[in-house]
Amino acid sequence: MNIEQFVKRAKESHVFHEGEVADIDTIASSLSATRPLLYWTMELYDKDENNIKGGGGLGILAADTRRTAQQLGIPLILITPFYTLESHQKLDNFWQVEEIRAVHPGPAYRPYGSTSVSTAQHTTAPLDVFERTHGSTQIVAVTEKNFGELYPGSNNGDHRLYQEIALGFGGYKALKTKGIEAAYMQLNEAPTVFAALARLDDMLQSGASFETALHTLRTQILYTNHTLVPAAEGEFSRAQFDHFVYPNISSNTLREWVAGLFNAEHNLKLSLLAIELAGKKSAVSKLHAKVAHFTDRHGDIVEFEPVTNGISRKWILPKIEKLYHTSGILNEADLPSNEYLSHLRSLDMSTVRHLRQAGRNHLTAVLQRRKNQYGQATTIPDEALIFDFKRRFASYKRPDLLFQDTERLAHILVRHNAHVILTGKPHPNDEHMKHELQALLRTAHDNPALRERFHYLQDYDEEIGQALAFGADCALNVPIVGEEACGTSWMKDIANMKLLISTPDGGVADVQPIACFEVSGDNEAESLYSNMEQVAHILRDDESYKREIIRSLGAYLPVLSGPRMMAKYLQLFATK
Ligand SMILES: *Cc1c(COP(=O)(O)O)cnc(C)c1O
Repeated sequence: MNIEQFVKRAKESHVFHEGEVADIDTIASSLSATRPLLYWTMELYDKDENNIKGGGGLGILAADTRRTAQQLGIPLILITPFYTLESHQKLDNFWQVEEIRAVHPGPAYRPYGSTSVSTAQHTTAPLDVFERTHGSTQIVAVTEKNFGELYPGSNNGDHRLYQEIALGFGGYKALKTKGIEAAYMQLNEAPTVFAALARLDDMLQSGASFETALHTLRTQILYTNHTLVPAAEGEFSRAQFDHFVYPNISSNTLREWVAGLFNAEHNLKLSLLAIELAGKKSAVSKLHAKVAHFTDRHGDIVEFEPVTNGISRKWILPKIEKLYHTSGILNEADLPSNEYLSHLRSLDMSTVRHLRQAGRNHLTAVLQRRKNQYGQATTIPDEALIFDFKRRFASYKRPDLLFQDTERLAHILVRHNAHVILTGKPHPNDEHMKHELQALLRTAHDNPALRERFHYLQDYDEEIGQALAFGADCALNVPIVGEEACGTSWMKDIANMKLLISTPDGGVADVQPIACFEVSGDNEAESLYSNMEQVAHILRDDESYKREIIRSLGAYLPVLSGPRMMAKYLQLFATK
């Protein structure tokens, strides 16, 4: 596939409303290898293919964005740090301990030259740059031997700021040396904003007036926000800017302009900087665009364009993906075809059962090589149903909702011959959730039925995420409504014809009413349990199962499509 073919397919597609992607051919024809989309991200999660491990959804999205661009022939360079330390989870008596491993880019990466950033007192910090090319896309990674790990301490720390300027200023310089024109830049969250400052400073050096340069820059930059409220974000002090940021800016006017953005407490949130520098702003689901509450320097509310996240092919069992193509559900651009609903209705359930079994076999193999809460392999009988809960062990995602009534849970699992697999790490600094995890594992241990039917997988990663998407039967997604910006693991589940039990939050709420089993009401735990019972019945009956697949896939196939997301981003870049 090349970009022209993709543009043609997107413009013909019913996935988009009239005119929604009307201008993407103009941007497509102005992109090239030396004038690509520059995708800046502090996190990339693509260990399997590119040897870089991230922490969660932000990095998974970056990897999926690049992979989708490659598939569609879109020229894109993804610029990211290469962290030299990688964190893994282990359990000791159900208590999480982090194991830190030293890592290197490895032979798949080639040297891309060197760059540097400056800090106060005119010291220069040299940086190494590596690259790896995949079709129309390239990964450019900035690092040095003491670069450290992703999210080491606080969001406001000196080392974090150093990593951020290394990416933004260091990365910008490295690309410029190679003759890459930074005409279109996407900032995947605010901490990548230094790339935009570097660009503006560069424009000022070539003689543009500040107003003209800022105006031009704003037409070229898209800031993609993943946060709900600025309170959740890091901020930096004037002293930190003096030390790390200003030494990398040549223009006095620009330094003064930045200084004017600090608040009364002499701090600056990077989201404000991103809002002021980017003329285009997007949120990652419809609901997120509504609830994200950010203001610009004048105190005016910022409007975000909703571009719901999508996933790449990696998360769909290859045999299922093949079926989507042979049966005409997906077209060659991986967009749902204009007749996909009727093709979905003619799916044959014995084929579906056969494919689901192939997914289950994949999961069974992965469960053999990974460790559960007892440090052992996990074996689940073939006839048993599997519910999964796989996501960061964060309080708002509510991994504990399932354990509100342990007896009830145990009873459901026994009665329906079902198992639950839970996986996900508490943040290393989140003592509260580390205790929650330990308490939850003890509770399960003390209940004989749960000891047999409840499994916690250590060190949640792509392999586990993918295996559960391929092979479990039903996913549980119960964030507190209004707190999940989008979420993508539920998309992986729907794409593999699993059933989904969810609160109406994040990207799930793009479709109204939500097209899965809804957890709602005053007693959400009870709602979760009764949905689990209903799903258990449905999964054992072909006719009802098929009806649910048609309902969920029918509604969400356009939503979860990576190419749908890419077309919307191209449109945002094309819009004046
Ligand atoms: C898909 C995936 C995520 C993102 O999940 P959310 O639903 O956005 O929380 C995080 N980590 C891994 C390993 C994944 O595979």
